Amino acid sequence: MKLLEERILQQGQVRPGNVLKVDCFLNHQLDVELLDAIGAEFHRIFKDDGINKILTIEASGIAIACMTARHFGVPVVFAKKAKSRNIDGDVFTSTVHSYTYGRDYEITLAKKFLSPADRVLILDDFLANGKAMKGLLDVCQQAGCTVAGIGICIEKGFQPGGAELRAAGYKLASLAIVDAMDDTSLRFRAPEL
Ligand code: 5GP
Repeated sequence: MKLLEERILQQGQVRPGNVLKVDCFLNHQLDVELLDAIGAEFHRIFKDDGINKILTIEASGIAIACMTARHFGVPVVFAKKAKSRNIDGDVFTSTVHSYTYGRDYEITLAKKFLSPADRVLILDDFLANGKAMKGLLDVCQQAGCTVAGIGICIEKGFQPGGAELRAAGYKLASLAIVDAMDDTSLRFRAPEL
């Protein structure tokens, strides 16, 4: 998606540890017009896949998911990172290793919001090693729902998450794929969908 690639080139900052900061427009300060265009693009790619729910993970995925949900006319549900009590066994849980913080955390999602009848589009801001996505896919498997697609704003193509998900057969659309980056330059690969 040209618009997103241009913004990354204009305002993205490469930080030590292969971290790309895009907090000016995507995951801290939010450019709502850009997010709306991102939602329209995800809708173009996944509109024929029978999606009836969008799933994401807090916090950065929520704005992207909400703006995309406007185009689909479906609800958003997000996995929570805060530990929820699971006294009655009423939540799905999974453990995720955080790339940016270098530690494990638990995600939870109330069972009542995901069922075998659901065809889910999973969205997130970044895909790197695929650990966050693995947690969300684990929750979907526990719920017995169908993962109809995965939409990512920025895939770091030099890390293995994207290749693994494609090899596993998921319909994965990344709107910008960064193939290489350092302090002075950033190179994109053409997205496939
Ligand atoms: P993964 O689990 O695929 O290794 O990493 C994806 C998660 O880590 C995303 O939810 C995102 O929040 C965070 N993340 C991974 N790489 C980056 C990065 O380069 N920049 C930012 N801002 N977040 C990242």
